[in-house]
Amino acid sequence: MQIEAAPTEKRYEKAEGERRGLVIVNTGDGKGKSTAAFGLALRAHGRGKAVKIYQFMKVPSARFGEHRMFEQIGLPIEGLGDGFSWKSQDLEHSAQLARDGWEKARAAILSGAYFMVVLDEITYPLIYGWLPLEGVLQTLRERPRDVHVVLTGRRCPEEIIELADTVTEMKMVKHAFKAGVPAQRGIED
Ligand code: ATP
Ligand code: MG
Repeated sequence: MQIEAAPTEKRYEKAEGERRGLVIVNTGDGKGKSTAAFGLALRAHGRGKAVKIYQFMKVPSARFGEHRMFEQIGLPIEGLGDGFSWKSQDLEHSAQLARDGWEKARAAILSGAYFMVVLDEITYPLIYGWLPLEGVLQTLRERPRDVHVVLTGRRCPEEIIELADTVTEMKMVKHAFKAGVPAQRGIED
């Protein structure tokens, strides 16, 4: 490891613009997209802000660590899916759930009742053609100006990336799964 001098100058210029709601995207194929979104939700909740998390690929009854913790602290998280996987039997049903779920999420964003709305794993229903991209873009554009929206999932459509304010690509450097380590409670769920 190379030792270098600690910085002695400010690294960023002072921001001159006005504060407003942001579109934040966590994409890429490494681990951390959803957990980073939950971290933001916790930060906002800690500031007393109203937050709502929608999960497009989780069932309403999911009881992962985050669901247990969010329940304890009173941060609403709602699964909108049917546990879709490669063995999903009824794709039309999954697609319909995604559209119904989107209507809820859309209403929450446009209502202005929330400081932050998290759309966890929304890229998958977009990629599968279950949700029209244009509807999502339009909602993001038309939302009240102070509402922050966080979107997660791999292969985020370019149109959303263009519209977004802050985009992070989680780059897979290593993943334990590739070395044969199975998913573990408290790490994966
Ligand atoms: P996390 O929920 O841990 O933040 P994520 O949201 O970045 O992960 P997803 O694409 O939603 O990742 O993947 C869901 C599951 O796949 C998670 O359990 C995650 O740990 C796992 N995973 C993430 N990246 C990889 C990878 N590169 N290879 C294998 N499994 C992965
Ligand atoms: Mg995820």
